[in-house]
Amino acid sequence: MKVIHLSAECYPVAKIGGLGDVAGALPKYLNQLGVEAMVVMPFYERKFVQENAFDTVFRATSLMGDRPFYFEILKEKTKKLGFDLYILKIPGLLDRTEVYGYDDDVERFTAFQLAFLDWMLWSGEQVDVIHCHDHQTGLVPFLLYYSSRYTSLSNIRTVFTIHNGQYHGAFGWEKFNYLPDVDPWKTGLLDWNGGINPLASAVRCADAFTTVSPSYLLELTSNSNGLEYLFELEKAYGTGIINGIDYDVWDPENDPMIVTHYDTENVALKKAFNKAFLCGQFGFSPDKPLFTFIGRLVAEKGADLLPGIFRQIFADIENPVNVLILGSGEAATEHELSALKEAFPGRYNAYIGYNEELAHRIYAGADFILMPSRVEPCGLNQLYALRYATIPVVNSTGGLKDTVIDISEPDGYGIRCEAATVDAVFTGIKRAIELFQNTAALQLLYPQTMSLDFSWARSAKEYIHLYHSLKPKS
Ligand code: ADP
Repeated sequence: MKVIHLSAECYPVAKIGGLGDVAGALPKYLNQLGVEAMVVMPFYERKFVQENAFDTVFRATSLMGDRPFYFEILKEKTKKLGFDLYILKIPGLLDRTEVYGYDDDVERFTAFQLAFLDWMLWSGEQVDVIHCHDHQTGLVPFLLYYSSRYTSLSNIRTVFTIHNGQYHGAFGWEKFNYLPDVDPWKTGLLDWNGGINPLASAVRCADAFTTVSPSYLLELTSNSNGLEYLFELEKAYGTGIINGIDYDVWDPENDPMIVTHYDTENVALKKAFNKAFLCGQFGFSPDKPLFTFIGRLVAEKGADLLPGIFRQIFADIENPVNVLILGSGEAATEHELSALKEAFPGRYNAYIGYNEELAHRIYAGADFILMPSRVEPCGLNQLYALRYATIPVVNSTGGLKDTVIDISEPDGYGIRCEAATVDAVFTGIKRAIELFQNTAALQLLYPQTMSLDFSWARSAKEYIHLYHSLKPKS
């Protein structure tokens, strides 16, 4: 079976969040399980592309509306990522440094999808399944099945995975002419609320759709930025499959980015070395519990709650904790979190920006990771944290609900808060401080969390099962 993953991100080529992690790992594990999986992604002017060798395997000119555009498909020469990586370059659209955030993102990703399909059409590349990820690839199932241009490809089955249902990539009908000839009776499958909505269209047109956790599939029926009714109607076609983590990249025994390696036998001692190093770097005292937050500073992640939570912790001298933030996002939250550095020196620090190495060092050195997310489709941070014996303190939502068992439950290993509010998280932090003070109980959790199976091998098998069950939807 041959599967193409179509994604805007793929680690280590370009990663903004969990989508990049998944697209960079799932295909590798599928290959190990006998599925021929590859990735097709847009070209970005980034380090990986500059430092690695590619062959140009295809060149053509395509059309978006009345705008012809030239594109090239580059293939990474060595298969070093564990799968064939194809990068689609479109001069003027897909040759920039950033992944998202341009005024013409609609044109960039529409052209990406059209060029991909034209490549499939003209190259005669045989493929069984096209697995699309998030809205940037959401037009593909509709075009495959309802555009006369691609009729010869319509025997290819499709899966659409939602990594984040809050973003839909919607645009106005005035851009409908970007698409090639489509069946006029089917254009309603593109529409949601009077606009073209790639995410909604993919949910309706792909043979199956998945979310990255079972709980998130249910939550989309009540919280999906306007698509709730759609998910109520379509949920029977959906499956929740928890993401795995790439044990080749996230492994405290071999991680080249951390200061001292450790395993389940020596974790207590060696984790303390990692913590001491981190504390030295950020001016903390290692004998206090170190709480961290890593991620996008956006409301979805509850990042706006953090300043209030920390003020409440630091107001009470009975709470001798240290806090380290790594993230970037909304300007107001970035500003507030930076300002706290001056207010609480020696107790609080923040690195505003993206830093992969520091993220690894924090997972290795922190005691607790805070995830007060309002929405969390799967969440990878808690899985990485557990792998590095850092205890998650999470709001019970989405994938966090599916992966973190509270310490009050049998075999529990994390702390669940009842809501994404300052008070609920504060209560969670107080429980974490109590756990920290009980060194024996805390250290008993270390080997347990490190041994939990959140491997891709497990999740990849669920995807393979799904691929084999695919049938045309109508
Ligand atoms: P999302 O995809 O919603 O942002 P996930 O939890 O699925 O959230 O994935 C986040 C990924 O991005 C994790 O690998 C996390 O370590 C990483 N990450 C997020 N922000 C940063 C940052 N500022 N520096 C380094 N890594 C980050």
